[in-house]
Amino acid sequence: MKIAFLGLGNMGLLMAINLIKAGYQANGFDLVQSQLDAFAAAGGTSMGSASQAALDVDVIISMLPASHHVEALYLGDSGLLATANPKALLVDCSTISPKVSQAIAAVAKSQGFAMIDAPVSGGTAGAQAGTLTFMVGGDAIDVDRARPLLEKMGKNIFHAGASGSGQTVKVCNNMLLGIQMLGTSEALRLGLANGVDPKVLSDIMSKSSGRNWVLELYNPCPGVMENVPSSKGYVGGFGVDLMLKDLSLATDNAGALDASVPLGELSRKLYEAHSKAGNGALDFSSVFNLTVD
Ligand code: NAD
Repeated sequence: MKIAFLGLGNMGLLMAINLIKAGYQANGFDLVQSQLDAFAAAGGTSMGSASQAALDVDVIISMLPASHHVEALYLGDSGLLATANPKALLVDCSTISPKVSQAIAAVAKSQGFAMIDAPVSGGTAGAQAGTLTFMVGGDAIDVDRARPLLEKMGKNIFHAGASGSGQTVKVCNNMLLGIQMLGTSEALRLGLANGVDPKVLSDIMSKSSGRNWVLELYNPCPGVMENVPSSKGYVGGFGVDLMLKDLSLATDNAGALDASVPLGELSRKLYEAHSKAGNGALDFSSVFNLTVD
């Protein structure tokens, strides 16, 4: 089976490498040459454009930053829906607006393509280890077609419901993650201000009622954990601007439905302030350093 992997950034490159290791032939494309070089070094075939990469493949996987990138990739005169073979299964793993995701899938369907939304959770560590959680929206038959491939990149493959449902679940999850990161950072900073060792504080809270994913696997305080962005200058990982995008997806979605998400809205404002202070490209755990007067 031949695949095209489009978007070889922090997540996409690691996911694509797991598919190559599992024996898939993979074409790849990214706008950044160094990412393409790393993909080629891992055994992938780097191509000069997305449409070239997607010619004559069985599955096209996209892992791009935001809604407008995914729209531009698939739609329009030079988009993949105009240039790729409709027999190819389309799998968008980017985190984007559920509405946009549904709209692209509907156009794809009208042109004879099957498309699923399959955003992920688990961070770059999960992408590297092949232990991601996939939240998939689409027809069951297409989800089953993708499952063997997704299982090479992830441990938990959930069919959330119809087209766009994977994105809805992902948006809810990341709103909670954004809030958790802020809350955990605040608790750690308060402990530090009192002179408590952050490792000791983290160990105790991890076994108490404050326990959560950030504390256990992604501690934002430098030096508490090895191999997390906070201990590597907040480089790599999941960017502040990507978290800001996800919180905006959540608050826009809530606004359209009259759903109340006051903590989501406050979190969006705090990440926005952190980004505006010049930290947009750092990992989102760098919000540990945000202070508000
Ligand atoms: P990233 O910015 O590191 O990578 C995105 C890549 O897409 C970049 O290398 C960019 O050059 C490339 N790109 C942009 N437009 C392109 C195009 N038209 N054709 C080909 N390549 C193109 O982002 P990331 O951290 O890999 O995240 C990707 C998606 O996954 C985002 O939607 C993000 O919200 C989501 N996500 C990220 C994480 C994480 O921990 N980083 C975790 C879960 C989900």
